[in-house]
Amino acid sequence: MQIIKTINEMRAITKRLGADGKSIGLVPTMGALHAGHKSLIDRSVSENDATIVSVFVNPIQFGPNEDFEKYPRTLDADAEIASDSRADYIFAPSAAEMYPQKNLAYVDITDLQDNLCGAKRPGHFRGVCTVVSKLFNICSPNKAYFGKKDIQQLYIIKQMTSDLNFSTEVVPCEIMRDKDGLALSSRNVYLSPDERKSALVLSLSIKKAYSAISDGETSSQIVINMIKGMIAGVENAKIDYVSIVTPQFKDTDTIDDGNILALAVYIGKTRLIDNYIIGETLCF
Ligand code: AMP
Repeated sequence: MQIIKTINEMRAITKRLGADGKSIGLVPTMGALHAGHKSLIDRSVSENDATIVSVFVNPIQFGPNEDFEKYPRTLDADAEIASDSRADYIFAPSAAEMYPQKNLAYVDITDLQDNLCGAKRPGHFRGVCTVVSKLFNICSPNKAYFGKKDIQQLYIIKQMTSDLNFSTEVVPCEIMRDKDGLALSSRNVYLSPDERKSALVLSLSIKKAYSAISDGETSSQIVINMIKGMIAGVENAKIDYVSIVTPQFKDTDTIDDGNILALAVYIGKTRLIDNYIIGETLCF
C-alpha cells in the first residue's frame, strides 16, 4: 500500500488505473481509523479493483469553536489498518495541498442542511460537499463509501452527486458499534471512563425508542420526550438535538417508515451523534 501526499501524484495514479480499465473505490475519512472505517474499506476492497482511503482533516468543515486543532491525527496507525484491509492507497494531502489559497468556489446544498447538524454547525456541510467534490475530481472513483453513522452527510452527498451529475455511485454502509452499543467514532477517544459510560445513553435511548415504535407508538413528540427524559438523567450529558425527521430532514409529527430518529448529545465537551432509520432492523 502506498501513501500519496500530492494531488498530482494521486491524479496520475487514478488516470493510469482508469486507462487500464480498473474500477476505483474511494473511502473518504478524516483518519483516526477504527472498525467503522474498516468496514467501509473492506467493502470497497471487495467491490473494486483498487481502493483509495483518503485521510484528511478538512479545516473548512469545522466551526471556529470546534475541535479541528485537537482532532486525533494517527497516520501510521491508519496506514496499518488500511493495509490490513488490503487497500491500495492512502491519499493524505496536507491542508496547504488541498487549499493552497482561500477557496473562492464552494459546493453548497439547500434544504437538506436546514435542520439537525446543518443547523447546529453552520457551514459544516458546505465544507463537506466542497471537499468531497474535490476528492471525487482528484480520485475519479466509480464508487464512494459513506457510513449511515453520519446520516445527514450521507443523504446530502447522495443528493449532491445526483444533482451535479458526478459519475460516482454513493454506497451507504451500516453503522458499526462497540459490543455495548456505542457507535464507533474517532471522537470516542476524547471520553474519560465516566463519560464513556454516560455516552451509552445515545444507543440506549435509540433502543428504547425502537421498542416504543415497534409497539405502535406513532407520535414523534412522545418518543422525543422519552429520549430527552432519559438523557436529562445522565451525568455529563447535554442535548444538542433530538429529532424525528423525514428523509428530506424536515420535522415530522407522525412517525413513518423511512423517517430518521437522530440525536446529537454533548458528553462533557465531546459532541456525539447517532441515529436510527425507522423501519430498519436494529442490530444491537
Ligand atoms: P469520519 O472519519 O468521521 O469523517 O468518517 C469517515 C466515514 O466513515 C464517514 O462516511 C462516516 O460515516 C463513516 N463512519 C464513521 N463512523 C462509523 C461507524 N461507526 N460505522 C460506520 N461508518 C462510520
